Amino acid sequence: MQDCIFCKIAAGQVPSKKVYEDKRLFAFEDINPQAPVHVVIIPKQHLETLLEIGDAHNELLGSIVTASSKIARKQGIAQSGFRLVANCNKDAGQSVFHIHFHLLGGRPMAWPPG
Ligand code: AMP
Ligand code: ZN
Repeated sequence: MQDCIFCKIAAGQVPSKKVYEDKRLFAFEDINPQAPVHVVIIPKQHLETLLEIGDAHNELLGSIVTASSKIARKQGIAQSGFRLVANCNKDAGQSVFHIHFHLLGGRPMAWPPG
């Protein structure tokens, strides 16, 4: 989609530090990391929020979870632990309206989240 920063990152039109790519997904280092490891995992398909996810996307969503564990292993945080977070709309603090999952790790994290 035009003017979507994450579509542009997935297309290589905006630079990013890529950590993973396959035919459906792209993952890169967050520009404002909230943990020693902070990777953003996106589908290449432009979907604005989690509310657009339906049964047709089950395989896509499953592939994101699979990719997250591959990336966590590669980044050395699989055993110490990590968090996979998706913010949806205002109260959750979503700021980019192209679905994405934050993979965070490398430090202990509090629960509940703020
Ligand atoms: P959210 O607030 O859940 O929508 O997360 C959006 C995330 O995208 C934030 O953590 C930002 O730091 C990150 N972000 C925004 N623009 C870029 C960019 N150009 N490269 C890498 N990460 C970005
Ligand atoms: Zn997009």
